[in-house]
This record gives sequence, C-alpha cells and structure tokens, in this order.
Amino acid sequence: MDIKKYIEGNPILRDVYEKKETLWINPHLGEGEVSLSMEDIIDAKERLERFAPLIFKLFPDTRESGGIIESPLREIPKMKENFKSVKGRFFLKMDSHLPISGSIKARGGVYEVLKYAEDLAIKEGIINHESDYSILIEEKNRDFFKKHTIQVGSTGNLGLSIGITSAQIGFKVKVHMSNDARQWKKDLLREKGVEVVEYREDYSMAVKKGRELSEGDPLSYFIDDENSKTLFLGYAVAALRLKEQFKEQGIKVDSEHPLFIYIPCGVGGAPGGVNFGIKEVFKASHVFFIEPVNSPCMLIGMATGLNSEISVKDFNLSGKTQADGLAVGRASGFVGEFIRPILSGISTIHDPKLFKYLKMLKESEDIEIEPSAAAAFMGPESLFNCPLGKEYIKNLNMDNSIHILWATGGNMVPRSEMDEFLNA
Ligand SMILES: *Cc1c(COP(=O)(O)O)cnc(C)c1O
Repeated sequence: MDIKKYIEGNPILRDVYEKKETLWINPHLGEGEVSLSMEDIIDAKERLERFAPLIFKLFPDTRESGGIIESPLREIPKMKENFKSVKGRFFLKMDSHLPISGSIKARGGVYEVLKYAEDLAIKEGIINHESDYSILIEEKNRDFFKKHTIQVGSTGNLGLSIGITSAQIGFKVKVHMSNDARQWKKDLLREKGVEVVEYREDYSMAVKKGRELSEGDPLSYFIDDENSKTLFLGYAVAALRLKEQFKEQGIKVDSEHPLFIYIPCGVGGAPGGVNFGIKEVFKASHVFFIEPVNSPCMLIGMATGLNSEISVKDFNLSGKTQADGLAVGRASGFVGEFIRPILSGISTIHDPKLFKYLKMLKESEDIEIEPSAAAAFMGPESLFNCPLGKEYIKNLNMDNSIHILWATGGNMVPRSEMDEFLNA
C-alpha cells in the first residue's frame, strides 16, 4: 500500500509514521447518526439483570452486588496533583477490579456468552424470560450446554473472560491466543478446563484461524471481537451504570460540568461500546481513545478512512507493545465506521510512559492497574497540552470538567508480574 499521500496530507499521520506521540481530533464528530439506539442498550442491561441470579451463584465475587457485574468509580485527587496543567476532577473507573476477569472484558465477553446461552436455552424450552435463570446450573442443563462449543481469538483478557464464563456454564470452550498473550493467562485458563490454542502470529491471525475452525463445526459458536454487535452492547451498558454512580456520588454532568472519558483502545470493541453508551446517556460528553505508538490501528483506520482495510504494518509499525491488551494491528471495521460521528479523538503513547503512570497511580492512590489500562492517563495530558487539544477545549467549561480515566484491567495480574511492572 502506498501511504505517502496520507502522510503528506496529514501532519498527524506523519507523527504516527514517525512514532511520535500525537493527538488526532476527529473531524467527523457530529456528522450523521449511529445505527443502534438506547433501546438496544436497555435490552442488554435487562438481559444481564435476568442472569443476575445465575451470576450470583457461579461467581462469589458478585455476591455483594447481587449478581451484577460492576466496578467502583473512585475520585483520585492525589493522582490529579501530578497533572498540573489539567483542570477539573479525576475519577478512576475501576474495571481493573471488575468481578470474574479483572478487566473490561468482563462486560462484553461475559455478556455475549450469556446471550448465547439464553438463546440456546430458550430454543430448547429450558427457560423463558420470566424464569429464574439460576436453574441453568442444574446438572441436566449443564449436560445440554456441554454439547456446544464456544471459540474466541484473544490477546489475553477477552479469552480469560469468555473462557472462565463459558466453562462455568458448562460449555466446551477453545481460546485462540496470539503471540502477545501472557503465559499466566494461558495457565489460568487451562486450569479452568479451557482448551488454549497458541499461535506464533498476531491477534488478527488468531481471530482468523479461530473463526475458520469454528465455521467447520455446526455446534460451535465463534465470538468475533472484530465484528460482534453483541459484545459491543455488553460494553455499552457501562454508561447506564455510570449514570447511577454519578447520582450516588452527587456528581453533575451538563454543559457547565462537561464529561471527558479516556479509554485505551485495542481492536475497538470495548472502547467503542463504551463510547456509544456514553454518548447516548450524556449529552455533554467527550470520548477519547488512547493507543500505543506502535499499534495505533484505530487512529490509522479512522484518519485515513480505510478502517479495517489498513494495518499498522502498512505504516511500518511493529504492532508490538508492553500493553498486551492494545497489541492489535488492525481495528474492527464495524467499530471504526460506527463511532465516526461520536468519537472526539485519539491520542498515542510511548511504552515507557505506561509504566510511569502505572507507578504514579500506585504511589499516589495505592491502586494497581495493568500497563494497557495506564494508557488512559495520556488522554488528559495530550488534550491539555497539544495545540489541537487546546483548540478542542477552548470554548468548554473546563474549570468544572469531570475526567473519567477508564482503568481497563489489572487485578488478575499475578503478584510477581505486577512487581515487575512497578519496578520497570
Ligand atoms: C481489551 C482491552 C482493551 C481494549 O479493548 P478493545 O476491545 O480490544 O479495543 C484495553 N485494555 C485492556 C486491559 C484490555 O484487556
């Protein structure tokens, strides 16, 4: 592919090509409409509520919330002190501490497994929407699910989330892991009875191989991170829950108190789903993604308009990063297209800064997150310091702004590995 014309016509894409940190502001924000609605988000939320009695029984760490999988929202004023140039308040959305898999994948991944289980069980006449879904763990129902296989391609966290949930319900499950996946994630899954298939290739290839294998088996269902609307809606529910948390904590969001969300991006499903939900729920909101300088697949796809037709390799970038959840070379085409009218921008980050932020958060607030999640802190930094960022916020009421740093993962990282991150 000849990328010269993109680099010459666009200084941001030149920065990307030169592996410089940068901020891209989406010129298409506000143009056109999205193809899903609030009703779809509410449908997903209600499905999760139907499953709460089952989740409650299967996952003890959801007992306190009655089987609802949700993470804390915590103000982090001491961390904020490190960002002198940024106005407003900092909050951490702690998906790093979500039940089941300790990452944002416990939203979309778990949701799609549950939706598939519900579809199968309704078709089989085991339940209807009014049933107590906890009967699904009865032996005879588990025997039914055992006949079905769920497959997924993953850099790690999606595999953890889908593998753990599927195995608990009784499904056979195969996780196709790319070369970036950490050993402890594979070990943990195998311990839970999940079949882990390892690839020497990258994430896109793991997805492709998994999809092919699944297509050849009529009793197999492939969860497709590059195309799935179901995963997407599972993530979007987060916005409705965030609204409740704001209410509980007395936090106001309106044009006098604008909301900024910063969320690390890999293939785009998780941040895209959250972006959609946030824009449906909060009028005065602005959503930014963050990607590593070596794998800014969504930035390249959206800024060139080629979406999934272009890969970071075309920009001569390696796709390699310590942020394993973000090590994706080609963005979801579905998501890139979908968020075109609703995403505010994307900034990029150098790997060493991931560890700087990770340590800063530990020292200031005693909270541990993984490198991928730490990328979120690049969001406000670039928004308040890059010329295009300053331009974006110049007419907004920033003194009262609310900044949500979306901590996408962390608490399943083994102690020894976290210590390595903290000492990196
Ligand atoms: C998966 C993941 C992301 C990004 O989600 P995508 O859907 O791949 O864009 C960010 N952070 C962590 C920790 C993740 O596991």
